[in-house]
Amino acid sequence: MADAFNGTCSQCGRDAPVASFTLMRNIGMLVARQWTNTSGLMCRGCVDSTFTRYTLVCLFFGWWGMISAIATPIALLANFWAFLTSRRLPTADGTRASIAPWLVAALPTVPVACIGALVVLAAVAPTPPRDTPAPVVTETAYDAPEDDAPAAPAPVASPKLPPITAPIGEVARSLDRGDPEEAADALKKLGAHLARKDPAADKALATFVTRLERDLGKGQLVAYEQAIKMLQELPNATDAARAQKAKGLIAVARARLRDQDAAGAQLDSEAALELAPSASAWLVKGDALAAQGQREDAAAAWQHGLDDFPNDAQLKARLKKTKAR
Ligand SMILES: [Zn+2]
Repeated sequence: MADAFNGTCSQCGRDAPVASFTLMRNIGMLVARQWTNTSGLMCRGCVDSTFTRYTLVCLFFGWWGMISAIATPIALLANFWAFLTSRRLPTADGTRASIAPWLVAALPTVPVACIGALVVLAAVAPTPPRDTPAPVVTETAYDAPEDDAPAAPAPVASPKLPPITAPIGEVARSLDRGDPEEAADALKKLGAHLARKDPAADKALATFVTRLERDLGKGQLVAYEQAIKMLQELPNATDAARAQKAKGLIAVARARLRDQDAAGAQLDSEAALELAPSASAWLVKGDALAAQGQREDAAAAWQHGLDDFPNDAQLKARLKKTKAR
């Protein structure tokens, strides 16, 4: 366990003493196998509850298959280590319920059983390579063929697609190189993951949009115009994807406003509003209309925004300024 500090738990989202942990779960299904890694900053309560769930699942469902018989003790030992080291974390009020006392009492048998199983299995099967777990913050799960190594990262619902983090890096790099065709290819891959409602794809899209916002802020509108068009073509598979796409469009609209393209900014903001209404989309739409000299329409857009998002300070400020004229 790395040093503990006060931070946000990646599992329950609470502010509590946290440290970095990795817990693993294996389910053996004779011909297939499901391996789940959970790693990231966790509070003690979440280590306890994850440890309890994973240990119970491993103990009851982990063993069915040749590779599983090896992967399961690895998972049990790793989880036991995480549990032991997490004892250094102070419990915090408001964290999840602590571990069941009977399980604590039964704990010392776990490593003994694991080592016993490993010794027996070492005699009958070759040990698979143990990959370093991917540095993910939340859960990733996948179904692997039983003859696979235990910890190769892959997306949930799409075992045949390549992992999503690679394409998103490709998009960014090809845009940096000014190669929109390559970027289009990478975004197409992302689209395929999104259409399959792969949670990793939502995350990759969020990463991409964050980068888009940052680079647009630096005035790289031209290089990203292609990406923006492609972004609009990505499937609206989940609410998260819609919200991210809208966020990207708002960033584009802002950049266009800066570049004196108010009509373009208006279109982008309207597209964003259609995807996922937000105060910032209404704000930019009003700004775009005002920049085109349509003061009444601008005020109407800000007012509409304020009706839907009554607490938005920027919308309030815009309307106040309009009324002062
Ligand atoms: Zn927690």
